[in-house]
Amino acid sequence: MTRRRWIADERTETTATLKGDQAVHLARVLRAQPGQVFDVVAGGFLHRAEVLSVDERAVVFTLHEELEADAALPVHLLMAVFKFDHMEWGIEKATELGASRITPVIARRTEKHLAQAAAKRVERWRRIVLEASKQSRRTDVPKVDEPAMLKAALAGVSAETKLLLAETEQDNSLSAGLVDARDVALAIGPEGGWTPEEMALFSESGWRHVTLGPRILRAETAALAGLAVCAAVL
Ligand code: SAH
Repeated sequence: MTRRRWIADERTETTATLKGDQAVHLARVLRAQPGQVFDVVAGGFLHRAEVLSVDERAVVFTLHEELEADAALPVHLLMAVFKFDHMEWGIEKATELGASRITPVIARRTEKHLAQAAAKRVERWRRIVLEASKQSRRTDVPKVDEPAMLKAALAGVSAETKLLLAETEQDNSLSAGLVDARDVALAIGPEGGWTPEEMALFSESGWRHVTLGPRILRAETAALAGLAVCAAVL
């Protein structure tokens, strides 16, 4: 059985502390008691942990042995910045589906006001991935990078297999592009799509263009579908 995982808000070498909703839930709903044992993710590691003290504002655990954590899906998502409400939904779902890293990209067709506001949104996106990680019982929290222009974003990619989701591609499918892949970067364009210059830049940087099928998907749908295919194949 998979036990419920809790994600610590703070940790020291020997203790972890949960605050906010998680503390309220443990204290009020589950009526946690000192001595009870839970699985707690602290500083990126999954531990067996024993309740030391309970309060609705803070539940403190003593950390015991480290447990084997299940790995994230080895997929680095480059997501062009698009309408924030849709993008946030996409980021939440990408976290649930297991993406390991998300880089917001300022694309040529990212609307100006969104591009300008993106830097200030990162904190919110990080909160979303934290909440979604807790909710989906992930043992790690995906990294959300600062928004970057495409060139800089491409320079920060270390994955071996680099796949550009492109509605203009007609032959090569994403699933075929994933054969023998271990570590994948997946790029999704903005609502207006990538420009031809951007597509060329991807190609020069070793990215292959792949399709998710004949229909034009919204960016957040493409992100979800792309990750689901990765999860099935990897
Ligand atoms: N403006 C374009 C659509 C852009 S869709 C048009 O109307 O023609 C936004 C992004 O979703 C694209 O940049 C691409 O990365 C992805 N996408 C949408 N449909 C896709 C498909 N069928 N295959 C692969 N990627 C797709």
